[in-house]
Amino acid sequence: MYRVIKARQLFDGERFVPENAVVIKDNKIVEVVHISKEEEAQWENIIIYDGILVPGFVNTHCHLELSYLHQQFESGGGMIHFLHQMFDKRHNFSQQQIQEAITHWDKQMYNNGIVAVGDIVNSMDTLHIKKNSAIEYINFIEIFGLKNNNAEALFNQYLEVYNSFRSNGLKANVVPHSPYSLSKELWSKYRNFKDASSVSIGSFHFMESRVERQLWDSHSSELMDYFVNKFRYTLKELEHLFKNKKEYLNFYLQKNDWSLLVHNTYLQEKDLDALSTYQDKIFFCLCPNANLFIENRLPNVLLIKSFTDKICLGTDSLASNYNLSIVDEMNVILKHFDVSAEEVLKWATSNGAVALGIQNKYGYIQKNYLASLNLIEIKDKRIDLVESIKY
Ligand SMILES: [Zn+2]
Repeated sequence: MYRVIKARQLFDGERFVPENAVVIKDNKIVEVVHISKEEEAQWENIIIYDGILVPGFVNTHCHLELSYLHQQFESGGGMIHFLHQMFDKRHNFSQQQIQEAITHWDKQMYNNGIVAVGDIVNSMDTLHIKKNSAIEYINFIEIFGLKNNNAEALFNQYLEVYNSFRSNGLKANVVPHSPYSLSKELWSKYRNFKDASSVSIGSFHFMESRVERQLWDSHSSELMDYFVNKFRYTLKELEHLFKNKKEYLNFYLQKNDWSLLVHNTYLQEKDLDALSTYQDKIFFCLCPNANLFIENRLPNVLLIKSFTDKICLGTDSLASNYNLSIVDEMNVILKHFDVSAEEVLKWATSNGAVALGIQNKYGYIQKNYLASLNLIEIKDKRIDLVESIKY
């Protein structure tokens, strides 16, 4: 059966267009048309909304498995305070609590109008939910660990997770966590690893915190002091992070077909010069609410925008956010920067879909695309989700 959804206005993933309605069959868009008031009566099964029709949102950076840490952490204390809390609290919850939180927040994201998620994975915890979810997940199996002597065992563990996700029909890529969290040996394991996926998409936490900025700008960092004091690493074990950081970054960017650099809270103009060789392969993923939560600071969105239009949005985990809502992320950007609603909507839909390699199904309101649609309102530079349209 055909259905027709008409709204006051329509954003097609890239821009506001003259058409204002979609014809849908079997959850697919058959046609995008303009229907005037007079023509409405000619269409059967027409539903008329007073709002703006946009594609389903794409969340390009999340850690669904950490959902049980919702409202457990204090905000604003910086990255080391955040890591302290993660270390103290991460293991205080039962598998049942973890599973309940994952189930709840997978549904909540769907209700928040999110149709696809680039999700960081450290464990098997989310596998079962993802197999049956209405959301499409692109899984980034994330490797980290600073001890050289257990790198092989650790990497094999990550591979087991990677293979389990893939053998259950889920999309997965192996990715390094950040420039500061892999041992020399683990970097070399990653270097030698051949991804079995047809495309390899990278995801990398980058320039997230003040202490990570120190690592790039000097030969000491409070982050390293923290690793030494808390986990008894020797400076020798961490030396490569200073010495080889640029080489690792370049290698990571070369290895993948394209890459997400996530956060960029402390990204500066000089970094963009260094990244310019890879300009076509980089998506900058912004997670502004998480940046405010951890560092009480926002990335220089206008600087990034002047460098590229490949910008997409993420929520990060509930350890550092109050909600998993792309609308909330768009609103923080609209509040603090001279950026239009049309631009952030593109970041939240088609750009996110391209970044995750799913732009043939998601991110656009066009013929043959999935009819996963949202109805929004924009007032005084604020976006409200009126309804996530489900069938
Ligand atoms: Zn993250």
